[in-house]
Parts: sequence; C-alpha cells; structure tokens
Amino acid sequence: LLGADGSIAATIFAEMSALAARTGAINLGQGFPDEDGPVEVLEAARAAIAEGVNQYPPGLGHAVLREAIAAHQAHWYGLGFDAASEVLVTAGATEALAATVLAFVDRGDEVVTFEPYYDAYAALIARAGGVHRTVPLHWVSEEQADGGASWRVDLDELRRAVTDRTRLVIVNSPHNPTGAVFDDEVLTTIVELAERHDALIVTDEVYEHLAFDAPHRPIATLPGARERTISISSGGKTFSTTGWKVGWLTAPAPLVTAVLAVKQYLTYVNGAPFQPAIATGLGLPDAFFTGAAAALAAKRDVLSAGLEQAGFAVARPQAGYFVVADATPLGFSDAAELCRRLPELAGVVGVPVSAFVHADRHDASRSLVRFAFCKRMPVLEEASARLAALG
Ligand code: PMP
Ligand code: GLN
Repeated sequence: LLGADGSIAATIFAEMSALAARTGAINLGQGFPDEDGPVEVLEAARAAIAEGVNQYPPGLGHAVLREAIAAHQAHWYGLGFDAASEVLVTAGATEALAATVLAFVDRGDEVVTFEPYYDAYAALIARAGGVHRTVPLHWVSEEQADGGASWRVDLDELRRAVTDRTRLVIVNSPHNPTGAVFDDEVLTTIVELAERHDALIVTDEVYEHLAFDAPHRPIATLPGARERTISISSGGKTFSTTGWKVGWLTAPAPLVTAVLAVKQYLTYVNGAPFQPAIATGLGLPDAFFTGAAAALAAKRDVLSAGLEQAGFAVARPQAGYFVVADATPLGFSDAAELCRRLPELAGVVGVPVSAFVHADRHDASRSLVRFAFCKRMPVLEEASARLAALG
C-alpha cells in the first residue's frame, strides 16, 4: 500500500478529480452528483444542528436512524432487523466495509470479490493480511449478445473461487464500475457456496435505489442468506449527500457486535446531525426513490447515447452512477493513457477501468473507461458534444 519511499498513491478518484480541477475539464471521473438531494433531508440536517444534535451519538448510531434503517429494510425488502442489536451506523459505507473486513479477515484468509471491483476492497483486504481472489465479470460485446453489450459472471469460475479457505465473499450489486446487476442465478450460487464453505457474505448495496430496469434484490432476501450476510449501504448515493458519510450495515446481532468491536476504535461515531436527516430521507414516500431512479435513468440514456455517437462501444448500465465504454473502436487501446489525455483531447475526465482490477488482469480491461452520469443534463449533453470530437 506504500511506495518504496513511504508515499501513498492517491486513489484514482482523487487523482482524476484533481486532473479535472487543474484542466477545467468536465469531471465524469469521481462519482458524486452536482446537485443537492431532497430539500426535506437538507432541512432536517439544519434543524438537527439548530436543535443541538451536535455531540457524540451512541456507538451504534442515533436510535431514530437505526429505526429508520430497520423500517426501510422491512418496507422495501421484507427483511426484519432489530434496530437495537442488528443495525450499526457507520462513517459511510467505507467504514462499514473497513470494520467488517478487519473484524473477520485474519492473515491468510481468502476474500472473494468480483473484478473489476471497487478499489477500497483490495486495499482493505491487503491491510488485513488477507488473500484477495477475484471472479471476473466478462464484457460481452454487442456482437456476442442480443440487445447490446453487457457483463456476465461465469458460474464455474465463481465455484472455483470459493473454497474452505474463503472467509468473506464481497458482493456489489448494483456494481461499481460496470452498473451491472447480478441475476438470481449468480446470487443463489453465491449463497450456496457460502453455505457449503461456511463463508460470510458481505454485500455492498450503496446503489440499491438507483436501479433502472427492475427493483433491487438484496442477497439477504435469498433462502439461507440472512444469517450469514452483512448488508452495507449508505445515504450518500440515495440522497445525493456523498460528503455526509452516513452509512450503515444490517446483520445478525453477533456479526454486528464483532464489527462494532473494530468500528468503535476507528471513528467511534460520526455525523451527529446528519444521522436524523438521513432517517428523514429513508422515510420519504416511495415516489421520491422511484423518481430519483427514473431521473438518473434518463441521464444514463443521454450519456450512453453520447458515448456511442462519439464512437465508443457501450455496455448500458442497469443501475448506479457509471457507464463503462470501450475505446477500441476509436483506435485507443490503452484507457489509462487515454484518460490522462482526455482533458486535452476532449475536455472531459473519465476513470480507466484498470484502476479496478489486479495488475495481472489489466489486459481484460485495458481499453475500458468509466464515466459518471450523476450530473446535470446540460453537463452530460456538453460532455457528449465534446466527446464527439474524438471520432
Ligand atoms: N461502495 C461502492 C461500490 C461505492 O461506489 C462507494 C462510493 N461511491 C462506496 C462503497 C463508499 O460509500 P461511502 O461514500 O458511503 O463511504
Ligand atoms: N465511490 C466513488 C466512485 O466510485 C468515489 C469515492 C471516493 O472518492 N473514494 O467514484
């Protein structure tokens, strides 16, 4: 994790946001919205500050938020969790992931993720001394698939990756960076394998409410899953409050206790007035959630069409903030190099998918770029027009 001189490499997101700031390019790199979320949520934070909710919350999080999280899991997914013992509020999904990995992974334990993977997983597994095994998501080109390019998990590869050495399987559906949603066959296979090999499932569902084609299906709802699953989410994406860093996990009480043991010495607690505000958000009418997903789907369509018109091959995402595009048809085989030059070539910033894979797997993603579409429509239209200059 440290360079030979003791330096740390900035995350790809920080690096690309700095590149955008330096060049004035449109930042479709780091995933954060350029508009505020629901006014009720913003107002609730102001009110909480005014009411004096400004000191340390309880270690598990404010009761009003834990109750709202439990109610949300019951309302949307039919999952029952006890707000007093099965819900833990964290400093973003990131801390939930960190405390979970540090709680359960000992030196030499294996952790399975799907590749490309969100970069924090690799760093956390390495920090815990774990061994990181990956299952590739394969890009299926438009010629190979009906209805456009997409992503596919090979179930045999999945079965080979999970063994008695596996401590955790980290699932991320909807998936960053691809925007893929895992189907029931993949989810069921993960649960069967976790049961067979007595592994825990950690599911990162931060994009749960940004699913465009079908309602989100949490893996914890599958038979046999709940008792061995830690479900992680965050208010950042759902309420466009990525900087508030209010996340949470739901899991059986003994698992929550194990994670809390680690978490209490990481941050202890965070975000006092933001916690009741996120509780307000979780209680908004269903129409807020479906409306936000529909608005984002329209943005997905605009940027995907813009990228296609510019000459990229695009796998249209089913969910989330991001679309992955293949630059090969434009004559660019190295996306990392293209991303460094993109501000100058087109005034746009994207992230190379190679940032989300093991170094020895770069070939499979060499020409792929991730673009964020969680931006205002005119920004996406302008970015599309600029990218057309590449052709
Ligand atoms: N998991 C995934 C898949 C993400 O994309 C992100 C960040 N956008 C996170 C976790 C981190 O979430 P948070 O900002 O709540 O820590
Ligand atoms: N999750 C965001 C992304 O994928 C970035 C979060 C971060 O900067 N660490 O772009």
